Amino acid sequence: MSTLFISDLHLSAERPHLIKQFVALMQGEARKAEALYILGDLFEAWLGDDAVLPDMTAPIEALKALTESGVPVYVMAGNRDFLMGEGFEAMTGAKLIDDPVVIDLYGTPTLLMHGDTLCTDDVTYQQVRARVRDPAWIAAALAMSIEERIKTAQEMRAQSQAHTQSTAEEIMDVNADAVMEALHRHGVTRLIHGHTHRPAVHILQVNGQPATRIVLDDWYQQASLLRCDRAGCKLIAG
Ligand code: MN
Repeated sequence: MSTLFISDLHLSAERPHLIKQFVALMQGEARKAEALYILGDLFEAWLGDDAVLPDMTAPIEALKALTESGVPVYVMAGNRDFLMGEGFEAMTGAKLIDDPVVIDLYGTPTLLMHGDTLCTDDVTYQQVRARVRDPAWIAAALAMSIEERIKTAQEMRAQSQAHTQSTAEEIMDVNADAVMEALHRHGVTRLIHGHTHRPAVHILQVNGQPATRIVLDDWYQQASLLRCDRAGCKLIAG
């Protein structure tokens, strides 16, 4: 038995092949998994549980079928789909989990994060994140008409793209001190996150002990996942 981790699928109507690959994973290997964790940015955009885009019906139904088959699915919000709520849980049977959260992964306490909060060098990004994660901002966004939400999401996307294009790659990666601080604070020696789209297994030292930071791959090029079992964790390219 194994536990699967995926993140940064960015499912959208623009990339129908990824929707097909996601559905295939839900109907295939995920059925045999002990649990599936999705660590953020499952969707390119999520405008609220009452505004599901038509092309997202297939992935939602695939998630629902997976949870109904008895596989627990845990979903963390990313910076694209943080408006997921109880409606999303009801339509998929998945459980929304906090960012960060520590789980017991085959005896090893493991910290799960989307990863964006570790990018502390990107001050502009962190300011925007703090603003849009404010409950008052979220309530105001969800009170908008769906047309207004689409417009707001497009404006935010354009600002984000302009920022990404004008910001150095290193600034947008995780900050090493933020990683160490997170490992210390949670008392763990393993961290799994996505967001940066820089898949790797980094070996670090925390209090003289070896620690591992596993970065999940995105799905822009291919479907990929992390498979963990009693023997350890392995990144699998699609
Ligand atoms: Mn992200």
